[in-house]
Amino acid sequence: MRFQPLRRYALRLFLFASFGAAFVSRLSPAQAPAPPLPVIHVDNGPNSAAAKKAHYVVLVSLDGFRWDYAKRDNATHLLAIGKQGVWAPEGMLPSYPSITFPNHYAIVTGLYPEHNGLVANNFYDEAKDARYASRDPRAVTDGSWYSGVPLWSLAESQGMRSACFFWPGSEAKIAGFQPTYSMHFDNKIDDEARIAQVLDWLRLPEADRPHFITLYYSETDGAGHEYGPDAPQTRQAVHKLDALMGKLKAGLDATALPVDLVIVSDHGMVKTQGGWVNLGDFADLSHFRTVGSLLYGKTEEDRVRAYNQLKKASEKFVAYRLKDVPAGLHYNLNPREGDPVVIPTGPYALRDAAPVAGEKDLPPPAGEHGYDPRKMPEMKASFFAAGPDIIAGKTVAPFENVNLYPWLAHLLGLNPPKTDGSLNVLAGTLRDGGNEPEK
Ligand SMILES: [Zn+2]
Repeated sequence: MRFQPLRRYALRLFLFASFGAAFVSRLSPAQAPAPPLPVIHVDNGPNSAAAKKAHYVVLVSLDGFRWDYAKRDNATHLLAIGKQGVWAPEGMLPSYPSITFPNHYAIVTGLYPEHNGLVANNFYDEAKDARYASRDPRAVTDGSWYSGVPLWSLAESQGMRSACFFWPGSEAKIAGFQPTYSMHFDNKIDDEARIAQVLDWLRLPEADRPHFITLYYSETDGAGHEYGPDAPQTRQAVHKLDALMGKLKAGLDATALPVDLVIVSDHGMVKTQGGWVNLGDFADLSHFRTVGSLLYGKTEEDRVRAYNQLKKASEKFVAYRLKDVPAGLHYNLNPREGDPVVIPTGPYALRDAAPVAGEKDLPPPAGEHGYDPRKMPEMKASFFAAGPDIIAGKTVAPFENVNLYPWLAHLLGLNPPKTDGSLNVLAGTLRDGGNEPEK
């Protein structure tokens, strides 16, 4: 792994400039020089002959962009993209729990969180005796935490180059590969610079040009947590991201490459009710390791006792033994989920315990997510997509986000492994009906 500043690309573009007028015009002195971003470059070789012929997918995540925000706030660019291709007017169903890392990684692996390994943003693994935390650089770059074959690894393994401008998992080597181009997560990187980088990647010479590209924005999640989903600040964030998506779409159109643009979110947002619900107020957790509301009992005796104490303790949550969590949640077999498992029944903020005396205790955020998307429609996510492989003017009923994986693989002409998702769910949105191309 090495850092390759954008300047190096510019040099390479210059070297290749004689092969295409597009590169020449890019180097015109009238253009401001692009800011050098610390792109991580792993040499996975050039695109194969088959990959060079494949189309392109740009997969964008707008964190916490609730399913109804676009229509509610008249996000004209997103609605236009949906009209030009497909969208889910009633939203897309996140996997449980409806939080960021589990769902981003479900989208790119086609696996429910308990199968893909990321059961929460932060959790404990007993076998490793270690903790995964979404903000711990050592954990996020360690491939041993992740299961499945993320789309970038699938692409790389089949001779196709990929690039990630942020995505959970993209900083680790998983299933044998890292993306050819990636970025360490740094949310301070300018929004427009992210788009410029994506477009720069698409201007690379054919051999080096990534066909699968991810891009990420977090403004709607940040505003939703701080001010609540209905606050003016959150609506402003919706408009800001919508304008960025308009710029991205225009930039992609200008490349004249066959790019399918897919814009999703990981989950929605709901206004929280009441103060913190401290699980330790209802059960003796002194022998437990806890991470947020995840409870890891050391002995079976401890687990049974805590379960009995929690099961009828409050109307704000239900407690299950791990194996008894309702099957529809796909959250009942991975020890990383803890035991017992506590599931909130409404928009309540659950945690293990209040901070010890002397430590600052902030009230719960104004908005939150993580709840059961089937019981709480506010958890539903967004889905918009348009491009040469996608039928225009279609809508789709709410579908589980694990079904995106085989669909995205199909757009790229990749053979996906078996996952929790099925191509049948979204095949009707494809111009080729999801059929194999004629050989
Ligand atoms: Zn969030």
